[in-house]
Amino acid sequence: MEESREVNNRLVVLCKRLGNLRTEVDAPPRDRVISKVILDECNRTVFGKLYSGGNINFQAFLTTMKRAWKVDSVTFTHHELGILSFTFDSEMNKERVLAKSPWSFASNLLILKPWEPNKSTQCYKFTNCALWVQVHGLLIEWCSEEVVSHIAQILGCVKEVKVEKKGVAFQKVGRARVVLDLDTPLSPSTLYNLGEGKVWLDFKYERLPRFCYSCGKVGHFATNCVEVPFDEAKYEDRNMNRVDEKEEEQVVSTSGYYYT
Ligand SMILES: [Zn+2]
Repeated sequence: MEESREVNNRLVVLCKRLGNLRTEVDAPPRDRVISKVILDECNRTVFGKLYSGGNINFQAFLTTMKRAWKVDSVTFTHHELGILSFTFDSEMNKERVLAKSPWSFASNLLILKPWEPNKSTQCYKFTNCALWVQVHGLLIEWCSEEVVSHIAQILGCVKEVKVEKKGVAFQKVGRARVVLDLDTPLSPSTLYNLGEGKVWLDFKYERLPRFCYSCGKVGHFATNCVEVPFDEAKYEDRNMNRVDEKEEEQVVSTSGYYYT
């Protein structure tokens, strides 16, 4: 006990001495304006991280992404903590690539964040991503951009909404581009109150790579799930596969619509 206290005291003294070696510069730099060349480069830069991690062939990754992004020139830098940066040849190309997110490589979601002033590389958050989500089950008279936007807010921050005709003239599908927190399970459906009644709505996530049907999170498959281990042999016996009487009562028609 006495010996460990002695070691701790020595460590404290050593740390204090090391701290004394640091210097703090208060004087402002002579030229506080960022050079135009550097600023232009920053404005063409995005930071990125593969959400699933794991080992990938970076040369193959770069070649594939350049082809997918349809750009001739993009400078790639590998930073610490698996963070990457891509500097495009023009701001227009950078904006085009960001607008067409999400991108993926070998079923790994590539999360991109544009450069922001006064933000260090480690401070960019790569645990959320804007994905297109389709809202299914909405009655045709309620299928408007306003209603779809209101529903999508349940999932996260809504960036864009579209209502598109699908197949026959009367059928429409509402889609919203929503910033989703990838650390939490994705919601498969919701019960939406329309005032005079409620409706079950299903969410379909577009271009979703590596999704786990066991825990509901992005980044791995059910066979590799550590949170809710998936055993295919026992799947038939699982409680979540059973529908109780109350749930059965709620499902009254194929439209999913019922009155309260
Ligand atoms: Zn899982």
